[in-house]
Amino acid sequence: QRVDNPYAGGRGYVNPEWKAKAEGVSGGSRVSSNPTAVWIDRIAAIEGTDGSSSNGPMGVEDHLLEAIRQGASYIQFVIYNLPGRDCAALASNGELGPTEIDRYKTEYIDPIAAYQNDSRFRSLRIINIIEIDSLPNLITNVSGRATETAMCNTMKANGNYVNGVGYALAKLGAIPNTYQYIDAAHHGWIGWDDNFGPTAELLATAARAQGSNIANVTGFITNTANYSALQEPYITVTEQNRQSKWIDWNRYNDELSFAQAFRTRLVQAGFPSNIGMLIDTSRNGWGGSARPTGPVTTGTLDEQINGSRIDRRIHKGNWCNQSGAGLGERPRANPATGIDAYVWVKPPGESDGSSTEIPNNEGKGFDRMCDPTYGGNARNGNNATGALSGAPISGAWFSAQFSQLMQNAYPAL
Ligand code: BGC
Repeated sequence: QRVDNPYAGGRGYVNPEWKAKAEGVSGGSRVSSNPTAVWIDRIAAIEGTDGSSSNGPMGVEDHLLEAIRQGASYIQFVIYNLPGRDCAALASNGELGPTEIDRYKTEYIDPIAAYQNDSRFRSLRIINIIEIDSLPNLITNVSGRATETAMCNTMKANGNYVNGVGYALAKLGAIPNTYQYIDAAHHGWIGWDDNFGPTAELLATAARAQGSNIANVTGFITNTANYSALQEPYITVTEQNRQSKWIDWNRYNDELSFAQAFRTRLVQAGFPSNIGMLIDTSRNGWGGSARPTGPVTTGTLDEQINGSRIDRRIHKGNWCNQSGAGLGERPRANPATGIDAYVWVKPPGESDGSSTEIPNNEGKGFDRMCDPTYGGNARNGNNATGALSGAPISGAWFSAQFSQLMQNAYPAL
């Protein structure tokens, strides 16, 4: 018997592997008991890895057993291993090539489903966050757009993102105590009119692929592993403000209003009216001494918007290890209308990608969006990246970033 909101009324699972890393940094014990998601970012992570930078020895079964031991009511997994993964960025490229959909099904989804379906775990609410940074790329980073990439064109043409997500939903959704939330990017990605409706329709198509149906979907998550502000208290999106360089004609300027509006659009696309949204607030706090304390009302429009915004990024297309970011809202259920929870899905302190090329045998590429000396590309308006230096490969622990996230936390620690 599923509940409407799996986050409500119980404690979330605390991943001991993340907790230990957080407590290895001075001051980390202030936040280390928050629930974070467990990323199953490769086939080997299902059994637990030895020698991967992002996962430790605990596999899916170990985490489920530990969740029972903790008396947790819910546990969060990230399903993240699509063929041709992360088609518009190199830092989180995965192990499966663009055509390896069969391996995705049989060597990745099926064994995860087998553990989740074990009767020992029936009392847990098992939450699956489905495939970050996948489907929205098929709207925004494909032929016809200045931001197209060859790999996103390939993944659109071969159907393996849509079919992979459909298969994951069908298989995991068949387990009575699971809850599936699909990635829905963030406002600074699909908040423009050209992207908003088409992304909702594509998500509905994927939810009906491979024998799945929309009832397998509990909701959607925005801002995973990104830095978009939850709310911009000193800026209202008006026709005039939309003309600023920062907002750039987007309809939204923060995650909360975007998530609520996108929820409505998803219901229009055919999803049930009780779907709920999640917002990843692990790194969107934007506190600390640089945070404005009120609106700037003099100067040019750009000066006013730039002086008023709490999101201190150089450009909203910047996504890698953002300098100046802070921990956002602590995870909690039912924070606002239409929102099931604020969650920490990207475990704060885990890198988005290395700032220089680091050879590795984990399939992780070097994306220059993580290089503080790079001048950018079409996806960030050819701006500087704002990335921290000294970063390890994606998923690996980045102590200096974690310290800065705590220092700039909002609400403050
Ligand atoms: C990496 C994964 C990692 C996850 C969480 C992703 O960017 O590619 O390896 O598990 O972040 O840190």
